[in-house]
Amino acid sequence: MAERMLQFVRLRQAQPEKRDASARREDFGEIYREYAAEAAGAQASRCSQCGVPFCSVHCPLNNNIPDWLKLTAEGRLEEAYEVASATNTFPEICGRICPQDRLCEGNCVIEKDFESVTIGAIEKYITDTAWEKGWVTSPTPRQELPYSVGIIGAGPGGLAAAEKLRKRGYQVHVYDRYDRVGGLLIYGIPNFKLEKEVVLRRWQQYEAGGIHFHLNVEIGRDISLAELRAKHDAVFIATGVYKARDIDCVGTNLKGIVPALDYLTASNRENLGDDVPAFTSGALDAKGKRVVVVGGGDTAMDCVRTAVRQGATSVTCLYRRDKANMPGSMREVKNAEEEGVEFTWLAAPEAFVGAEHVEGVRAIRMHLGLPDSSGRQQVAPIPGSAFTIPCDLAIKALGFDPEDLPQAFGETALTVSRWGTLTVNHRSFMTALPGVFAGGDIVRGASLVVWAIRDGRDAADQIHAYVQAKAGAALATAAE
Ligand SMILES: Cc1cc2nc3c(=O)[nH]c(=O)nc-3n(C[C@H](O)[C@H](O)[C@H](O)COP(=O)(O)OP(=O)(O)OC[C@H]3O[C@@H](n4cnc5c(N)ncnc54)[C@H](O)[C@@H]3O)c2cc1C
Ligand code: SF4
Repeated sequence: MAERMLQFVRLRQAQPEKRDASARREDFGEIYREYAAEAAGAQASRCSQCGVPFCSVHCPLNNNIPDWLKLTAEGRLEEAYEVASATNTFPEICGRICPQDRLCEGNCVIEKDFESVTIGAIEKYITDTAWEKGWVTSPTPRQELPYSVGIIGAGPGGLAAAEKLRKRGYQVHVYDRYDRVGGLLIYGIPNFKLEKEVVLRRWQQYEAGGIHFHLNVEIGRDISLAELRAKHDAVFIATGVYKARDIDCVGTNLKGIVPALDYLTASNRENLGDDVPAFTSGALDAKGKRVVVVGGGDTAMDCVRTAVRQGATSVTCLYRRDKANMPGSMREVKNAEEEGVEFTWLAAPEAFVGAEHVEGVRAIRMHLGLPDSSGRQQVAPIPGSAFTIPCDLAIKALGFDPEDLPQAFGETALTVSRWGTLTVNHRSFMTALPGVFAGGDIVRGASLVVWAIRDGRDAADQIHAYVQAKAGAALATAAE
């Protein structure tokens, strides 16, 4: 083992420099700066190169983390990039937005006393360097195959499958109802976590590599799934989950109460330079407003931090459990706190109050009770504890459910779980329709980018096996 590894005993953890909160509040730029080469190498050398790398085990892509850390420590960055990109389609994106505290870094064995290796930041550094140096190439195949695959959804799941299939030589056609590629990477996740240039440059490379994008095309409205199946040798559904969960309380019909994704999409579009009437009119702009965000997940954190940047006069996050039970990444909660967001824990909305437009959220205090069968502590309202938070804009960030795809696609043979997610064979990724595969959020329910990438990559392998088997069978029949 190289002497330069195991440096955690003398070198402290150092994340890349984080911009000062007061500066962060003023713009939508990413909040972390890049490592300098020396710092990246030094931080990588803290890895203990353990025999059973729990970081890899707990990375959904099973990235060979100790290997690329060692290569980085040795200054062999091009090789580090090759190893990192062998298992991950978007290492620079995961490095930025994976909840590392729950995945790789949270399971680093030196974490207990020495604080984990900064795996995410180093993964980002390796791949940003690869882009700078021109090592990231378009997915051009060595030979073209006469088979085509239709992919519905240009989010991380669809793109990961598209890249892998194109590299094998397939004619890949990606259909998306949005006008840009990236799914939630482009319109959901805000710029301060993931600058859009990082997504847009991938799109350019995929087009250069011969992947065909059909944008502003909604399957079920503009083209039917049946047409797509007739056109392609296989179809992959990666449409994500978009039906916003609603709040069941009095006053939800008042003006000024908006769903989180409408709000975030308007902000992202505005930052991309689009004309967004709902933003210009002020309906989806927090400037000068008292904002209340209801919810405690990553989407809620993105909303509160966006509102801060838009110039809200106050931003309150209302969450019915306590901080320890928040589903969002703790790192994001800390960032929000630093940026001036106020958290009201253990409180849930009881009613929205106002004449025509929302003027306040009446909330009630909650207490945590005994765990239910899932092990999660139940919450119950405390009688007589209601209080009102003044509010000009209320944002509902309570999570997402799947749309009714069998109905939207006119394919009742597609089967769904009791949550409405598509059911697939978990080995083959095939739905109940032969040759139609699915993965990402539409199968898992609202999840993570890294899991969508995993599904896209695995499904691509299964699609390849299916098409080859079908082609082999056709050849055998023709030869008979
Ligand atoms: C606000 C927000 C913040 C998040 N932050 C994080 C984070 O920090 N880290 C993280 O790991 N995850 C985060 N997530 C979750 C992550 O974005 C998703 O898990 C991931 O994008 C799912 O990928 P996907 O490819 O399955 O679907 P999506 O990214 O949702 O892409 C689906 C695509 O399908 C298209 N589509 C849908 N229906 C049709 C149709 N009928 N016809 C044509 N096209 C269609 C959509 O337009 C979209 O482009 C966040 C989610 C949200 C909402
Ligand atoms: S993909 Fe995510 S979980 Fe895996 S090593 Fe990278 S940051 Fe960690």
